[in-house]
Amino acid sequence: MAEKKNNPAPEKQMPINNVVSLVANKCTAEGCKAKPHRASFCDEHYMWFKEGLLTLEGHKAKDFDKKYHAWLRRNAA
Ligand SMILES: [Zn+2]
Repeated sequence: MAEKKNNPAPEKQMPINNVVSLVANKCTAEGCKAKPHRASFCDEHYMWFKEGLLTLEGHKAKDFDKKYHAWLRRNAA
């Protein structure tokens, strides 16, 4: 019987979520090469993300156009 000395019991297995482990040095948003400032987004895209224009992965939201225009209107004011 071989003892499993080198096999520590996994007492607390940390569930590894599908976290996007992009420790990127550029913004997560598609096509953006700016430096990330918050949550892997540059300032502008972080705002987009907060407004729901972008997903956490940097993709455009389904109703991006609608939200984007609403956002533009709000910012133009
Ligand atoms: Zn960006």
